Amino acid sequence: MELKKFVDFDNLTNAFAARTDEALKQAHFIFSTMQSPGLVKVGTTLTTWSLKMGLPVKGIIRKTIFNLFCGGETLDGCQRATNDLAAFGIGAIFDYSVEGEKTEEGFDGTAQEIMRTIDRASQYEYIRFSAFKVTGLAHFDLLAKITAGEKLTAEEEAAYERVKARVDMICAEAKRKNVSVLIDAEETWIQKPISDMTKAMMIKYNTEKALIYYTFQMYAHSMLDHLKELHAHAKANNYRLGAKLVRGAYMEIEADRAEKMGYENPIQPSKEATDRDFDLATEYCIQHIDEIGLFAGSHNEKSNYLGTLFLEKYGLARDDRRVYFGQLYGMGDHISFNLADAGYNVIKYVPYGPIKATIPYLIRRANENTSVRGQSSRELSLIKKERKRRKEAKKQLAHQDKF
Ligand SMILES: Cc1cc2nc3c(=O)[nH]c(=O)nc-3n(C[C@H](O)[C@H](O)[C@H](O)COP(=O)(O)OP(=O)(O)OC[C@H]3O[C@@H](n4cnc5c(N)ncnc54)[C@H](O)[C@@H]3O)c2cc1C
Repeated sequence: MELKKFVDFDNLTNAFAARTDEALKQAHFIFSTMQSPGLVKVGTTLTTWSLKMGLPVKGIIRKTIFNLFCGGETLDGCQRATNDLAAFGIGAIFDYSVEGEKTEEGFDGTAQEIMRTIDRASQYEYIRFSAFKVTGLAHFDLLAKITAGEKLTAEEEAAYERVKARVDMICAEAKRKNVSVLIDAEETWIQKPISDMTKAMMIKYNTEKALIYYTFQMYAHSMLDHLKELHAHAKANNYRLGAKLVRGAYMEIEADRAEKMGYENPIQPSKEATDRDFDLATEYCIQHIDEIGLFAGSHNEKSNYLGTLFLEKYGLARDDRRVYFGQLYGMGDHISFNLADAGYNVIKYVPYGPIKATIPYLIRRANENTSVRGQSSRELSLIKKERKRRKEAKKQLAHQDKF
């Protein structure tokens, strides 16, 4: 496929414009390390164990994988990262990446921090988005029990009401400040209350535009139908559907659990089936853009390219405010920076939080980037090419200076 009609993902000067030589060298080292699934396995086990034992490994984590994939440890600490993106017309979503909180105080604290991300996003003219995971606001076991359809105790009912109140407080603030909110999707066995709450928030707050976004994990074989069902529900109930499309980050644990517990694996039979549904879903949303707000989150070049083709096919402007392309900080810069340069709306999730709390997020990124899944080999080859290009450019400059 010719990938250059609307955007050239091979333009390395654009792709790495925000990275210094030192940052590129570091990214080179980390992506090379992540090529080996064995090293990733040993590294993630060792990191989790060392942190549990209180060993002084935070410094190493901060200087390496944290620095590559996270904006900072605090909201203010993300300023440099977000300024670097803004300079190239790319928005930032402050993503407080604390998972697995266990106390009510912890959940309230996370909710307050998410409110701060909304306030911060509202100060930007250009792109105003925020995102959160419900597992930062609720006990994992409570979400699992609801999904399994088990009867809750009175105490658990009360805890669930508090979770709903936190989610509503965040979405109400988003409405007040006109900031869109992406509610992430997680494992299927905790997803029911997350889906129910997201739907309730869309009904309540998406009356004028898609403000709250529901995440569709297209690696689930039922998801394309689900997207169409929710769209029909939105139409029938006079609200806009906010559709955040991703392929999905929990494929292995979904398959393992289904096998162990003897139920049908919810994941598609092949990568091709996931790719097909992601692209069909993108086209479906763009085709019905008067009723849907689209956020397409992917590092897949073909899917991002197809997104640009669908905009053209359905006569939409590149910067139509109902369509956003999204990548994660530290990944897919050749996609983000080149899309933004070509005039499309691009936002990157900028995760932040205390190092220890971001470990589950970092482990997911490390796993996603092993050579088995092929993502890092592409990133790595581009980084290598750019380092070579810069070295040669410097040599040439030095040569010219001699004369
Ligand atoms: C902005 C943004 C927000 C995100 N938010 C979420 C979120 O809320 N929830 C979430 O779960 N993930 C989320 N993700 C992570 C996302 O799911 C992964 O980044 C994504 O799966 C990687 O796929 P890709 O689209 O970049 O393309 P690729 O790298 O081309 O695809 C890899 C993906 O394809 C799927 N896949 C691979 N092999 C198979 C197979 N054999 N059978 C079926 N499917 C297969 C898997 O989903 C795998 O991760 C987000 C990503 C981005 C960029």
